[in-house]
Parts: sequence; structure tokens; C-alpha cells
Amino acid sequence: MEQRKKRILIVEDERDIAEILKYNVEKQGYEAEVACDGEKGLALGLSGTFDLILLDVMLPKVDGFEICRRVRSRLETPIIMLTAREEENDKILGLDLGADDYMTKPFSLGELISRIKANIRRYSGETVVKAQQDDDDGKIVIDELEIDMSAYSVKKNGEEISLSKQQYELLVFLAKNRGKKFRQDALLEAVWGYDDYYGDVRTVDVTVARLRKQIEDNPSEPKFIKNKRGMGYYMD
Ligand code: CA
Repeated sequence: MEQRKKRILIVEDERDIAEILKYNVEKQGYEAEVACDGEKGLALGLSGTFDLILLDVMLPKVDGFEICRRVRSRLETPIIMLTAREEENDKILGLDLGADDYMTKPFSLGELISRIKANIRRYSGETVVKAQQDDDDGKIVIDELEIDMSAYSVKKNGEEISLSKQQYELLVFLAKNRGKKFRQDALLEAVWGYDDYYGDVRTVDVTVARLRKQIEDNPSEPKFIKNKRGMGYYMD
């Protein structure tokens, strides 16, 4: 039986960029549809008929952040945000709203394609996220932090903490591998499912920073998610 082609939604108001993206993902064997404004992008994004969304931030009518937030409130579809500026705040906001990754324009098409592939594989269950391979029903308790993997919930002092999917998966991975240190590229591979390493590891740093903000009493002196210069992130 022939497998259904995976479908990618491209929400991008700059037609040249949209066309280049469409051409390149189609060349990889995906089906692509372009939405040129935020309103159309939101409607298509919520249709649930796509396997991945490439989402520009600055869009007419409805911006990318709003689309991300609303799609994520209903669907798990992987979202890669395309930000035009090197603004740390844009990345943080995007990842906070549940985007799986972001890329800053101008980006390498090879890198984008690689990330698209990894996210689609992960979403469609073709690769099991290593963080979830074993004892998924178990609980991990580290001091006042409790991770309940059957309920996908994290509590601190008994109070539920709201984490994005990536923050959660990163936490579970480190918690399951306590004592081991992981560099950002290793985490990109293990948690995000990227098999090629392209050098933009800030996704990991930003996600760790946000995770710390959620779980640490003092994010600048972290007790749970520690790091050692040049050695990577770890939990004791
Ligand atoms: Ca734009």
C-alpha cells in the first residue's frame, strides 16, 4: 500500500520565501500548501490535516504567535516558527507557546529540511523519543519535584506545573538519566530527534532556561537542571 504523503502547511506572507519553501519541501516528497496571511494560516492550521506547520511570525491579520497558541491548544502538530529577527524574545515566546522549534531567517534550507524530517518522524511515531522508551507509567520523584509519566504531569510541592511538550520531554530525559551530562547537540538528538547537528543549539538553551524558570526556586542558581561548562546539562 502506498503511504500517504505527509502534508506541510507553510504560513508565510512573503511570496518569494513561500515559493522557495514549497518547492523545496515538495522536492523532498512532501505535499505543501501555502497560506499567505494569518487568518488563512490559522484556519488551515486548525483543520488538523497537516503533519507539520512552518509558521512565520510577522503575518498580516493574525500573527504567528497567536496561530501557534491556538493550534497548540487543540492539536499536537509539530510547529517550526520562522523568525525574521535575531530577537531572543521571539524565540522564547514561540517555544513557550508550544512551538517545537524555531529558525531565524535567513536559514539554511538543508537545516530546515532536516528539522522538518525529524519533527515529522517524531510526530508520526516513527521514532520513539528516547525519553519515553521505558517505564512510561512510572513516577520520578526528585526532592519536591514529582514527574508522573502516566499522566504527563509535573508537580512541585504537590502543585501542578505547566510545561510545554519540549520542556516536559527534556525534563523527563534528564531525570531518567540522572548523573549523566548531555551537551546540547546530544539533547537535540535525544529529545528533539534531530540526527544531524547543524550548530544552532540555542533551542536547547532557551528551553532549559524556560524549564528552569518553571521548576527552580532560583533559576540563576538551579538546583534541578544544572550545567557544567563544556560538559552539558544534567540532573543529580
Ligand atoms: Ca512575514
